[in-house]
Amino acid sequence: MKYISTRGQAPSLSFEDVVLTGLASDGGLYLPETMPTFSKEDIASMAGMSYQDLAFKVMAPFIDGEVPDADLKDIIDKSYSTFRHAAIAPLVQTDHNEFILELFQGPTLAFKDFALQFLGNLFDYILAKRDQKVVVMGATSGDTGSAAIEGCCNCDNLDIFILHPHNRVSDVQRRQMTSVLTDNVHNIALEGNFDDCQNMVKASFADQSFLPDGRQLVAVNSINWARIMAQIVYYFYAATAVGAPHREVAFSVPTGNFGDIFAGYLAKQMGLPIDQLVVATNSNDILHRCLSNNDHSKQELNHTLSPSMDIMVSSNFERMLFDLCGRDGDLIRHMMEDFKSGSMTLSQDVIDKAAELFTSYRVDDDTMLDVISDVFDKTEYLLDPHTAIGVEAARKTRRRQDIPMICMATAHPAKFPEAVKKAGQSEDPALPHHMKDLFEREERFTVQKNDINTIHSFMAANIRT
Ligand SMILES: *Cc1c(COP(=O)(O)O)cnc(C)c1O
Repeated sequence: MKYISTRGQAPSLSFEDVVLTGLASDGGLYLPETMPTFSKEDIASMAGMSYQDLAFKVMAPFIDGEVPDADLKDIIDKSYSTFRHAAIAPLVQTDHNEFILELFQGPTLAFKDFALQFLGNLFDYILAKRDQKVVVMGATSGDTGSAAIEGCCNCDNLDIFILHPHNRVSDVQRRQMTSVLTDNVHNIALEGNFDDCQNMVKASFADQSFLPDGRQLVAVNSINWARIMAQIVYYFYAATAVGAPHREVAFSVPTGNFGDIFAGYLAKQMGLPIDQLVVATNSNDILHRCLSNNDHSKQELNHTLSPSMDIMVSSNFERMLFDLCGRDGDLIRHMMEDFKSGSMTLSQDVIDKAAELFTSYRVDDDTMLDVISDVFDKTEYLLDPHTAIGVEAARKTRRRQDIPMICMATAHPAKFPEAVKKAGQSEDPALPHHMKDLFEREERFTVQKNDINTIHSFMAANIRT
């Protein structure tokens, strides 16, 4: 399987190379050259498979033998052995034909563990095979950093540096990152905001001369194809559990960078009978404005109670546009060039195609809090703020009552106690067992100035030989 860039000018890459690459050299994102598909019989055979067996079945065609089957199975088994629930992604019913897919059973309590546990093990495998060492660098406003650190903390051949804005992530989120004490993990609390962290990472990828000879930076954000690929699996898992392929399904996805929901779009391209995908946004609503009103323009960033969706521009949207525009790399390159001015307009054809599958809805903080308390009153099920946004968007834009609606629960409520308290719960939601002592654990992080030379010397001094 070859991987190609959305902007049509970068060389195509093999699977393993794509895993170790961030952006393509033309600024685009990598996608498989062709999408594997499953027949109705194939999908019927998935019902009842273990999550791990299903993950192998869904991902193997993308890897196409580059990682031998037995090794891929080992990587998958290892990646999901850290999840607390034997089902890995359990379904809970909250209403007639409405389900919650609990994607927070991994080590850091957010759905990002699905991709990053797998990616960490995949890095370890590929790097050992090639006898290569790399440096992982990423910026986080919370969930990505902890999931990446948990995924990479035992990798022999990489050092990981995660930048978070000093004093601007929640205590739970910070402690999840800073209490991992293996010697390849480095948390940098940057004196700045999340944008400063992201700019620092971008500038470092653009000029890597500060690294020791032979080292390169590797990306762990959702521009990394392997993350998207690993997320396709749970769409098949949940859909077959409620009757696919003999029955259509719908999904509602709280959306930030468009990575999670793009995996759902790909599941549909692979043959899964998805009737509707709901793009749920908070008040950072560029995707909702775009899909409902063809208004894809940057606006000021709002800080909401669902911080993992506080994103101005969704990077993975480009991957979907590429597909909807007939995979025309030149066209995408021009569109992204236009977008530098702050906005872009999609053709009516693209908007119409998107509208066949997607609906979108924007949920502000007050409504989100009402949803948490309403669902709790009726079912005693506690939603986290991101999941609540998905549930509300599903209820508001649902097309067919007879099709099961599966709402992605992207985080455990204990990760966001502030919102849960505001929603009227008297006590902080309890952390799961394995994290009960989180607030007693030793932390390690370094506060650094928002200055590129300072950061680069810190990194150079801490990369293991
Ligand atoms: C990252 C994240 C999201 C957004 O996912 P995208 O793939 O960026 O759209 C939603 N909810 C939670 C809890 C997250 O951590």
